[in-house]
Amino acid sequence: MRRAIIFGHRDYRRVADAMRNDEPFAALSGFMPTGDPHIGHKMVFDEIIWHQQQGADAYALIADLEAHAARGLTWDEIDDHSEDYLLSLLALGFDADDGTLYRQSANRELQDLAFELGAEARFSEFEAIYGFDGETDVSHMQSVVTQMADILYPQLEDSKPTVIPVGPDQDPHMRLARDIAERTRYFKVTEAYASVAFDDDERPLVAATYEAREQYADGEGAPRCGEAADWLRDDPGITGGHDDEVVAGVVEKLDNAGMEPLRPRIRFFDRQATEAAFEALIDEIRGEKRVFEGHIDAFELDRETAEDLALAVEVDHGGYGFVPPSSIYHRFMTGLTGGKMSSSIPASHISLLDDPEDGYDKVKAATTGGRETAEKQRELGGEPDKCPVYELYAYLLAGDDDEFAQRVYDECAGGERLCGGCKEEAAELMEGFLADHQEKRDEAREVLADLDVQLDSERV
Ligand code: SF4
Repeated sequence: MRRAIIFGHRDYRRVADAMRNDEPFAALSGFMPTGDPHIGHKMVFDEIIWHQQQGADAYALIADLEAHAARGLTWDEIDDHSEDYLLSLLALGFDADDGTLYRQSANRELQDLAFELGAEARFSEFEAIYGFDGETDVSHMQSVVTQMADILYPQLEDSKPTVIPVGPDQDPHMRLARDIAERTRYFKVTEAYASVAFDDDERPLVAATYEAREQYADGEGAPRCGEAADWLRDDPGITGGHDDEVVAGVVEKLDNAGMEPLRPRIRFFDRQATEAAFEALIDEIRGEKRVFEGHIDAFELDRETAEDLALAVEVDHGGYGFVPPSSIYHRFMTGLTGGKMSSSIPASHISLLDDPEDGYDKVKAATTGGRETAEKQRELGGEPDKCPVYELYAYLLAGDDDEFAQRVYDECAGGERLCGGCKEEAAELMEGFLADHQEKRDEAREVLADLDVQLDSERV
């Protein structure tokens, strides 16, 4: 995050808050065992391990059902690669005593959850997000639902914020997981202002209209919806920045509500609560409340308390109580040969299993962001932002040493650093890293053998 390798997030604040307040949270990532683990995977391993060190319940899984269904790998190939991924993860510092490792095909609870979540997913969504069509096989579709279950698996016992480190291309997938999590919830909690329901894009304008009530309300107490509609119609200057359609929609709804008071409240919609849970929620809401068919309005609760209450009642009555999963987004490493780093182009990446000397050679042969001549480089400086070798420093070789990474950047951009020496330094560091990593992988074999992770599939 400090070096902007992780450059974005969705709803990470709830994870950060849990971390700060010493509350439970989780981190999870899945690995599709389609080839050797390489330095691009290391970045994700590091993200999981770092969160574990900050107190997360950490999960790493082998996405073997997906590898088989979506990529067509045989079970033998999957078995071989799975072991390699897990050894590297352990060698890099994953604490298996404290964390959870599993493979999809051997996790019955996960598959049961996937089945339940499948009831909330629509084929049309898969069409839109993954391009599925009538030719897509059913196992492939099932593997997508299984991934949704992976993302929510850390919350199967207890609700908690969960972070999934992914590349930005995975965002649609995260959005679907968040939607599906929400669809399983017993109650939907929203802010409301009258019996009429306002949409998400209408609510800010209604809130602003309520806040300005002194300018138009006739008498004390809450203004009437009709008064608010008349005031808005005269264009009081607060509609700027809102879409014309939104303004027209708000005015119409307020108009229809007529003499009804405009008054903020929290609304609990009954999504799929059991009768007992709905009754329990009514009992639990303190202060003024009104109960309707299918929803409850509470007038003395803030949004956060209301969310917590809805969650507690749901969990008490046998619901999942899933908190929407969060994500953080990392950059993709550039391939050593320029272009994309790809498992299928050996020269483009450094495998964590590469012989250290081969790792050295690959770095020496990498393309750079340097100028055509040393003279020009001294004069204009190099282009570290376009240099795969600089990425190696920033993502891996500088470790925790930010100053070192910054120094390489500054020296390069300032023309003091030339590519020959820079690559030699990086190549030596890479050779050392691989030698050390592989020694740790050997030590991790014993740990892995003692773990309850099925490495040999019984499938054919
Ligand atoms: S000096 Fe180093 S960081 Fe700069 S362009 Fe050359 S190889 Fe890349």
